Amino acid sequence: MKKLNLLLSICIITLVSACGGSTNQSEESSDPETEESSDPEIKLYVFEVGDILVKDISLFNPGVDTGQTKNFTNSAYLIRHPKGDLIWDTGLPDALAQAPDGNDSQAFLMKMPKTLSAQLEEINVSPTDIEFLAVSHLHGDHTGNMNLFTSATLLLQSEEYEGLFEGETVAPAVDSLRNNEFVKLTGDHDVFGDGSVVIKRAPGHTAGHQVLYVNLPETGPIVLSGDLYHFTKNRELRGVPAFNADKEQTLKSMDSVEAFLKEQSAVLWIQHDKEQNEGIAHSPEFHK
Ligand SMILES: [Zn+2]
Repeated sequence: MKKLNLLLSICIITLVSACGGSTNQSEESSDPETEESSDPEIKLYVFEVGDILVKDISLFNPGVDTGQTKNFTNSAYLIRHPKGDLIWDTGLPDALAQAPDGNDSQAFLMKMPKTLSAQLEEINVSPTDIEFLAVSHLHGDHTGNMNLFTSATLLLQSEEYEGLFEGETVAPAVDSLRNNEFVKLTGDHDVFGDGSVVIKRAPGHTAGHQVLYVNLPETGPIVLSGDLYHFTKNRELRGVPAFNADKEQTLKSMDSVEAFLKEQSAVLWIQHDKEQNEGIAHSPEFHK
């Protein structure tokens, strides 16, 4: 009965603003070994929030594997830190779960096997208890459930924040967030002030695209890719999707994130990579 007013295309929104000045702040990274006190534990939950059939994968690696299809997963994450909770990306809209055949467009067939709400409920987390909400960028497969987090402080690069309430395709997903507190970022941002969870500015896919560094005491350092890459071969080829705000900026962000990964000995979790995600424990299990 519901006409799903979905923000469907991954590729519709192109934010127009240019890259603002980046004020990379230096982090004092905390040494987990000096913090063995009572409960400094950080937990990372991974959610599958959508299933995407890409009808022509060369959309992401122009000129490569033209006409071949590929399945993507779609990921969201919850970081539970002693100082608060951060949700990173929110998936396709939960409402899509009501359409068993999914949403079929020219480029993608998108389905939502299990809602984000149900997955949060399963671990006894209420969206309104979450303190911070950050999305890698404003494409519809990342913003679908932003509107659940009405108490969260928004952590977005300024270019994305400026576009948040503008585009018609985004508005339904964020309409309830107009009164949320926000921080407009112009560079990296240490979310909890101890270096363990840091938003890294990585523009190009959109003008204010960002990735997330999480340093887990046992698992070690991880970077959540946003859409810097979409799958492993895309990373190997440094493929820039046909829909992308600024190719040069994207390639620069790839360089700086790759250098950062090396420097931190961090692993990159590619959020849409189905094969990689099959090897990563998902909620209700968690990483610590
Ligand atoms: Zn995406």
